[in-house]
Amino acid sequence: MTAQIIDGKAFAAKVRAEVAQHVAQMKAAHGITPGLAVVLVGEDPASQVYVRSKGKQTVEVGMNSFEHKLDAATSEADLLALIAQLNADPAVHGILVQLPLPGHLNEDLVINAIAPEKDVDGFHISNVGLLATGQKAMVPCTPLGCLMMLRDHHGSLSGLNAVVIGRSNIVGKPMAQLLLRDSCTVTVAHSRTKDIADVVRGADIVVAAVGRAEMVPGDWIKPGATVIDVGINRIERDGKPVLVGDCDFDSCAAVAGAITPVPGGVGPMTIACLLANTLTACARANGLDEPQGLTA
Ligand code: NDP
Repeated sequence: MTAQIIDGKAFAAKVRAEVAQHVAQMKAAHGITPGLAVVLVGEDPASQVYVRSKGKQTVEVGMNSFEHKLDAATSEADLLALIAQLNADPAVHGILVQLPLPGHLNEDLVINAIAPEKDVDGFHISNVGLLATGQKAMVPCTPLGCLMMLRDHHGSLSGLNAVVIGRSNIVGKPMAQLLLRDSCTVTVAHSRTKDIADVVRGADIVVAAVGRAEMVPGDWIKPGATVIDVGINRIERDGKPVLVGDCDFDSCAAVAGAITPVPGGVGPMTIACLLANTLTACARANGLDEPQGLTA
C-alpha cells in the first residue's frame, strides 16, 4: 500500500482563503476588521521568523496585524501592562505571546493574563478547562489543524481508535481532548509507555508529537491507518541539514492509508488555524455567527 499524502500546504491555503472571505464579509456587512496582536520578547531567530510569517499572513487575509517587539530584558510588570492594554483594546480580537519567553519571565503567569476570549493560542487555563469539559473554547492551533485534516480525510471520526504520542500541553493533551470530543477511543502514549509499538499498532489514527526524529517506523503502523506527523526535527543527512518528522516517512507511507509529510503537513496548518481562531474570537466578541468549519 502507498499512502495518500495529506497536503497541509494546500489545505492551509484553502483555510486562509475561507478566512479571507469571512473577513471581507465582516468588513462589508458590519464594518468590523478582525485584529491580531503578536508580542515577541527578545531576539530568538526562530521566533522572529514565526512572528514575521504570522504578521504577513494576517495582513494577507485582510486582518489588522499589531506587532509588539520588546527587548529581551523587558520586565514581567511591563509585559503584563502591555497585555492589559491589549485586553482592553477593542480593535484587538486575538493576542498571541510568542513562546518561549526569556527565562526571567513566568510563562504561565503571562499566558493567564491574556483575556481568555482573546487567547487565540488556546493556552489560557480557562480555555484548557473549557475544552476538557466540552464547552466552547479557543482551541490550540496545531491540534486544531490536525483535527481539520482528519475530519476532511475521514468525515466522521466516531469510534476510531486514536493514539496520540506525546502529552504536552500545547499539542498532545489538547489533541487527545479534541479526538475524544469527536468520539474517538483515545490513548495517549508518552516516554514511560510500555510496549509503545503494540499500542500504536492498534490505532486507526496516529498523531505523533514527540520531537524525536523518525522515531515511529512503518512496522508500528496498522495497514491503512492515518498518520499525522506533528514533529519538526532538524537533522543532518548526507552532510546536509534536513527537516524530518517524528515518523519515518518512507516506511510509514508504505503501510498507512494517509500521511502528512514534513515539511508541508501540519506546519502550514498552524498559522492558518491561528487566523481562523482570530476570526472566531472576533465573531464571538461582536455577537456574530461563528464561521462554520473553522472551529472545533
Ligand atoms: P514536548 O517536548 O513538550 O513533548 C514531547 C512529548 O513526547 C512528551 O510528552 C514526551 O513524554 C513524549 N516523548 C518523548 N520521548 C518519547 C519516547 N521515546 N516515546 C514516547 N513519547 C516520548 O514537545 P511538543 O509537544 O511541544 O512538540 C512535539 C513536536 O512537535 C516537536 O518536534 C515540535 O517541534 C513539534 N511541533 C510542531 C508544531 C507545528 O506547527 N507543526 C507546533 C508545535 C510543536 P513525557 O511527557 O513522558 O516526557
